[in-house]
Amino acid sequence: MGSPRVVIIGAGIVGTNLADELTSRGWDHVTVVDQGPLPLTGGSTSHAPGLVFQTTPSKTMTTLASYTVEKFKALDVDGQWCFNQVGGIEVATTPQRLAELHRRQGWATSWGVDARVIEPEECAKMHPLLDPKRILGGLYVESDGLAKASRAVVALSRRAQARGAVFRGSTKVLGVEQGGGRVTGVTTTSGVIPADIVVSCGGFWGPDLGALIGMDVPLLPLAHQYVTTRQLPELVGRNTVASEAGFPILRHQDQDLYFREHVDRLGIGSYAHRPMPVDLRELPGGEVTDDAMPSMLAFTDEDFAPAWEKCKDLLPSLRDATIESGFNGIFSFTPDGGPLIGESPDVAGFWIAEAVWVTHSAGVARAVAQLLVDGRSEVELHGCDVHRFEEVQLDPDYVSETSQQNFVEIYDILHPLQPRESPRDVRVSPFHVRQRELGAMFLESHGWERPHWFDVNAGLLDQLPPEWQPKPRDEWAAMFHSPIAAVEAWRTRTAVAMYDMTPLKRLEVSGPGALALLQRLTTATMDKSVGSVTYTLALDTAGGVRSDLTVARLSENVFQVGANGNLDLDYLRRQAPADGSVTVRDITGGTCCIGLWGPRSRDLVSALSRDDFSGESFKYFRAKHVRIGGVPVTAMRLSYVGELGWELYTSADNGLRLWDALWAEGQQHGVIAAGRAAFNSLRMERGYRSWGTDMTTEHNPYEAGLGFAVRLQKEAFVGRDAVAGISDDTVQKRLACLVVDDGSSVVMGSEPVFVDGAPVGYVTSASFGHTVGAPIAYAWLPATAVVGTGVEIQYFDRRVAATVVAEPLVDPEMNKIRA
Ligand SMILES: Cc1cc2nc3c(=O)[nH]c(=O)nc-3n(C[C@H](O)[C@H](O)[C@H](O)COP(=O)(O)OP(=O)(O)OC[C@H]3O[C@@H](n4cnc5c(N)ncnc54)[C@H](O)[C@@H]3O)c2cc1C
Repeated sequence: MGSPRVVIIGAGIVGTNLADELTSRGWDHVTVVDQGPLPLTGGSTSHAPGLVFQTTPSKTMTTLASYTVEKFKALDVDGQWCFNQVGGIEVATTPQRLAELHRRQGWATSWGVDARVIEPEECAKMHPLLDPKRILGGLYVESDGLAKASRAVVALSRRAQARGAVFRGSTKVLGVEQGGGRVTGVTTTSGVIPADIVVSCGGFWGPDLGALIGMDVPLLPLAHQYVTTRQLPELVGRNTVASEAGFPILRHQDQDLYFREHVDRLGIGSYAHRPMPVDLRELPGGEVTDDAMPSMLAFTDEDFAPAWEKCKDLLPSLRDATIESGFNGIFSFTPDGGPLIGESPDVAGFWIAEAVWVTHSAGVARAVAQLLVDGRSEVELHGCDVHRFEEVQLDPDYVSETSQQNFVEIYDILHPLQPRESPRDVRVSPFHVRQRELGAMFLESHGWERPHWFDVNAGLLDQLPPEWQPKPRDEWAAMFHSPIAAVEAWRTRTAVAMYDMTPLKRLEVSGPGALALLQRLTTATMDKSVGSVTYTLALDTAGGVRSDLTVARLSENVFQVGANGNLDLDYLRRQAPADGSVTVRDITGGTCCIGLWGPRSRDLVSALSRDDFSGESFKYFRAKHVRIGGVPVTAMRLSYVGELGWELYTSADNGLRLWDALWAEGQQHGVIAAGRAAFNSLRMERGYRSWGTDMTTEHNPYEAGLGFAVRLQKEAFVGRDAVAGISDDTVQKRLACLVVDDGSSVVMGSEPVFVDGAPVGYVTSASFGHTVGAPIAYAWLPATAVVGTGVEIQYFDRRVAATVVAEPLVDPEMNKIRA
């Protein structure tokens, strides 16, 4: 049998890269269609200035970019370059930006990109148009540079064609043919092309293409200004037409600007203008030329005028320059800035790879090719998967507002905890009204409002014993944080606290096939008695951790699954048998949950219930239907914070009554409401991992310290063969627990970690451990960094000494949690 017939919609940088990646893997039935002429189709790629800055806060995005650099370096068209590795400089004109550049240098180091912060004079030496007196320093990345996207498209198309791919220009896709829930082809202006797989690489046309099969594609086309100056005397004779550029590409994030050379002219991109959403029905038509195409709108001078003055401030030689041409070019923005990769939930074989920059194009194409050919991408993609969004986040107004905000914030200095300002109150739990009364400080995640601490608890600060007193933090670590978290941690460890766990994804997996499905997809034995609760992992075929799940068997054929997000829902639904023997439902919104944790939790809950909550009758990791204060509740005895307690689930309508009952009775037991700041600290002290931050598909369970959750003796499950030969002793890298030596320097996550002066890993989660009285962090380190190893964490421009410690830090014998 030959390889599947693939139709790729779009011959831009993403579509051609994908054709190349698929054909290089032996898939030779690949047809690329584009509505525009070839090779200059008129899409975003046709005019892309092609700056490639690799450094981002995301390991995945940086890795995708680095692959693009490596791949394009090896490409040419008749000896002409596709990547000109001129290097990249990001400059700082404020102390805050200079600090940010150090943070970015840390990310680059964490993700394996060589980068250094340099003095103003060195910046000006490399880029003589810069006035060193106007800057405080720069971040220099030698491997950054210019991608010649329109030429790379030619190189990639030629290579793919040589391996059998067919390219058809001026062929517009009008419809997607389906049969039996699968794609069977595409209808185009020149007839039907049969296909087993269709991949839409339609760039900002993505929503229209998705609409052909009823799929939401949450991106917004926005215009972004790009100008070219007339000849600059300073550049005359420096570059040839062939080389185009010799100075490093330049970013001036403080004014939302970037720069590159075009032989003897300067190209300038600006994000400093108002967001300009584009209606796809109003794109320019007509013949595609270098200067006129559907992705180019007329230049609006007035939007560029203020930015032009800022350009002259940074690069004084522009004072005598004039602008030769400009346009408002269109490309895609998304609610969280990430790309959109994945298969339609409804029509099998219809994939998308959209909202992708030139920078990440080769990396994304490789990932999609690996997904199609191997079923798994070597780079983990949870931040790129189109199914990461919640239903409410797919609403066009939500997409529009959040994507425009992303445009505005594209170069802003963003704190890791910084919530979006709008839209807010999109999703609230039934306890929201009470939380407001208690002065909750809400942060936002996936539309949910989540309390981080409660101002009312400030009143307890003066009761804190000396060893629990919060330590001063630096300005950055103090943002979106409050010393009140110490009070909430203390009360959880010494009395009892109520945590709102409602936003955590809950799925109901039910039906006669439910047990078999969960058995096949998870690492633990699921065939346990009704009332059992099991912590387990879902692995991918290579043994990578695709999720960790808490599965409660509520009846013979009904399981409640505590999951990590929408990706789990998508996965379980896809894996459910087609015969209807399993139903997977998202019950998050219709239910709610209070985590009632602390040594007094049993006293509290027992006072409100006729059910037996004693240790003998209600054991650790068991679930029961009970009544609390008259409210029917599914109680599960587990705790993310490492204390005695229960997760109390009820339907949304009963939620407020449950909260009020616990609150009223709890006054005698010292109850408080507590937020996620304390929660994160307590869960890390107890050694609980957070999927997506601490581990992903790039890690196997033994590396992640989760080998205990794998039961190889059980029947076959996805990933079993891949992990069968691995153990805690054979792994090369490990998620290690660190305690900061000085007892006070809090780090935030993603910082590089050094052993003997060399970067060897990076921080995942970090917090202040209130119980242990020191900052703690988890980090990926070589397995040789055993307990006792001294390390250094790079925090901005300084190094923080820390030590690898045995974990968990709190209650290793589990006496508290099993009390
Ligand atoms: C002014 C500007 C500056 C930029 N600068 C940079 C930069 O410096 N660095 C960087 O990394 N990125 C940059 N970008 C972003 C980058 O250009 C895009 O993200 C990238 O080119 C998108 O590539 P693509 O292949 O997804 O989309 P496109 O190149 O738009 O390709 C999509 C293709 O799909 C085709 N298509 C759509 N609908 C249909 C249909 N129904 N039937 C058939 N074909 C269809 C279109 O004709 C088009 O050719 C910039 C963008 C702009 C606007």
